[in-house]
Amino acid sequence: MGYVTGLKCRECGRDYAVEPVYVCEFCFGPLEVVYDYKGIKKVLTKKNIEKREQNLWRYKELLPIDGEPQVGLESGCTPLLKAENLAKELGVNELYIKDDTVVHPTLSFKDRVVAVALTKAKEFGFDTVACASTGNLAQAVSAHGARAGFKRFIFIPATLEPSKIVASLVYEPNLLAVDGSYDDVNRLCSEIANKYKWAFVNINIRPFYAEGSKTQGFEIAEQLGWKAPDNIVVPCASGSLLTKIWKSFKEFKEIGIIKELPTKLFGAQATGCSPIAAAMKQGTDVIRPVKPDTVAKSLAIGNPADGFYALQAMRESGGYAEDVSDREIIDAIKLLAKTEGVFAETAGGVTLACAKKLIETGKISRDESIVLCITGNGLKTQEALSGHMASVHHIKANLASFEDVLKGLKT
Ligand SMILES: *Cc1c(COP(=O)(O)O)cnc(C)c1O
Repeated sequence: MGYVTGLKCRECGRDYAVEPVYVCEFCFGPLEVVYDYKGIKKVLTKKNIEKREQNLWRYKELLPIDGEPQVGLESGCTPLLKAENLAKELGVNELYIKDDTVVHPTLSFKDRVVAVALTKAKEFGFDTVACASTGNLAQAVSAHGARAGFKRFIFIPATLEPSKIVASLVYEPNLLAVDGSYDDVNRLCSEIANKYKWAFVNINIRPFYAEGSKTQGFEIAEQLGWKAPDNIVVPCASGSLLTKIWKSFKEFKEIGIIKELPTKLFGAQATGCSPIAAAMKQGTDVIRPVKPDTVAKSLAIGNPADGFYALQAMRESGGYAEDVSDREIIDAIKLLAKTEGVFAETAGGVTLACAKKLIETGKISRDESIVLCITGNGLKTQEALSGHMASVHHIKANLASFEDVLKGLKT
């Protein structure tokens, strides 16, 4: 049996039973999973974790399931790369890349949240799963849902990158492209979720789904030798990943797995959709919804559900938020590829470009450890790079033609 004791409203503190519910009936606050940390502390030790298989379920006591994991047994435990070339480029001492562009079957961190959401959907007895997505979630629900035998309804904004549409369609879900922004899609899905008995992973299953993001934080702490980093830069769409990374470090501290929590959290957004960074810079708690206009479509949520809590986490930790232009995003994608051999999608460009700004402005100290969360693979957003790449060298199939061109190349 699991260690979840119930759900709790983040605003008024009212308790709820473990059911597919997500908002407080009284104050409309979001519901959060509550655990029995005393019980967990007895069983979840560093030694026990180290003996377990290399997947995200190695921290299962801190995930909201009752039985055994059923989905995503091949997801998680992505590399933490020591990024020495990039560190030199940025002028910092200790830099790491949490590389969620690889290992996961659908090549983004959404495999983490979907593993947990679909296991929970099975426990609740749903036969149909659904989601509102900016792209990566669509692919993860389509793929994991196929393998787990669910019927699938996937809702996306019609303007999504063509390669992301193909990457979902190949698993043959019911894919619905909605005329409108992600925020329109999400509103429509809330209405549908009220009417149909489906597990909408990021609506009625959201409290459980969101917990899956914690595994990224758990892994980082384990890979640093059971230590939380001094600084971590996290891309923000709804703001959920950032709040859950904070929760993961706090939980590890609570159960004694890490001793100290020095971490400052930094949110990263594209200027064309930066409601969280704007609120941070203006020193307010109020998130003003925006109409997204950026190449970073996976982060294009204009009205972020967890924006308020992301701000709270950043402020509590002594961090900050930053935003960057599309041009800076593209340059950062290229810099990461050139220095560390990692091809990130646009969200990864956002993270690195914001980190660069935060270092240059002194918000992140050059002497402290820094982790960059690189959350999705560049093969998913190749369109964003068109027109920004060096061109290929065309030659004839003979040595003379090659040597002609070679003269003009840097060697
Ligand atoms: C969904 C997503 C995020 C962050 O999303 P949150 O809603 O803030 O949790 C970050 N990067 C990528 C690539 C994503 O797909």
